[in-house]
Amino acid sequence: MTAAVSKPMPDVDDPLSGPFWAALDRHEIVAQRCRDCGMVRWPIAETCPRCLGSPAVWERLPSEGRVWSHVEYVRAFHPAFAAETPYVIALVDVVEGVRLPGRLLPGARPVSIGAVVVARFVPTQSGPTLLAWEEVPRKEDR
Ligand SMILES: [Zn+2]
Repeated sequence: MTAAVSKPMPDVDDPLSGPFWAALDRHEIVAQRCRDCGMVRWPIAETCPRCLGSPAVWERLPSEGRVWSHVEYVRAFHPAFAAETPYVIALVDVVEGVRLPGRLLPGARPVSIGAVVVARFVPTQSGPTLLAWEEVPRKEDR
C-alpha cells in the first residue's frame, strides 16, 4: 500500500503573504498598495518595484476579472493532482498589474481569452482557502 500524497499548500503563516491568504478565507482578494507611490504591488513583495519604497497597505480588489490566458493540465504536475486531471488553470487580470492564477471551474463550454470570470473561494481540508475562477455566463447563454 502506498501512502497518500498530499497536495502542496501555501504557507499561510508567512509574514509577507499571510494577509493575502487570510483575505481568501474571508472571500476577499487583496493586494498591497505602495504607500509611497500608490502602485498596486503584485506579486507580493517587501519592496515596491517602481519606487523601492517598503511601506504598503493591503487593499481589497474586485472579485471579478478577465481571462488573460489558460492552460489545460492533462498530465498532473504533481502526483496529488493526478486524479483531478484534466483541469484548467487560468491567469486572470483583476486590475492593471495584478494577474492571478486559479483553477477554472468547469463551465458549459471551453473558456475564451477575455472571458469575464468571477472569483470562487474554495476551502481545503488542510486549511487554506484557495482562489478559483468561474466564467460569468454571457447574455445569450442566460
Ligand atoms: Zn512605490
